[in-house]
Amino acid sequence: MEPFEVDRRRRRRHWEMLAVASFVVVMSLVLQVRHDGHVAPGGLAWLRLPPLCLSRSMFGVQCPGCGLTRSFIHLAHGDWRQSIATHRVGWLLALAVLAQFPYRIAGLCFAHRELIGRPVREGFGYFLIAALVGNWLFNVWTGADWLIKGSRSVSLAEG
Ligand SMILES: [Zn+2]
Repeated sequence: MEPFEVDRRRRRRHWEMLAVASFVVVMSLVLQVRHDGHVAPGGLAWLRLPPLCLSRSMFGVQCPGCGLTRSFIHLAHGDWRQSIATHRVGWLLALAVLAQFPYRIAGLCFAHRELIGRPVREGFGYFLIAALVGNWLFNVWTGADWLIKGSRSVSLAEG
């Protein structure tokens, strides 16, 4: 492949990831978690959004990503306790999203070279997947239902 073509693809990838990270941050700030655990736009609590997870809505089974949306929303609103209660490694994924901003912007400034080697990038990806799956296995193993616990503790706190 021509060096120019490689740069162009790399640049495009950086822009795509910046767009995805921006979307996640904006949605985390704009959305809210209702007392019943459902997600709604901020200030429009009546407008309950449908659950995002197919595994949970179709089979009633949690997947490794269940609770991440709510965990991000809690974190974006400064409630890290509730964030961890909803998803133990949500903060880690949120950090990975935030890290996209300096990394991708630097990548756009130096598009003619790879800033972080492929083994490191792939290793980091596998690390995040391992954290998600490890957390999920722990939930299955201990029979903990963190999602229900998370929302229930809110309702109890609210009386
Ligand atoms: Zn899920």
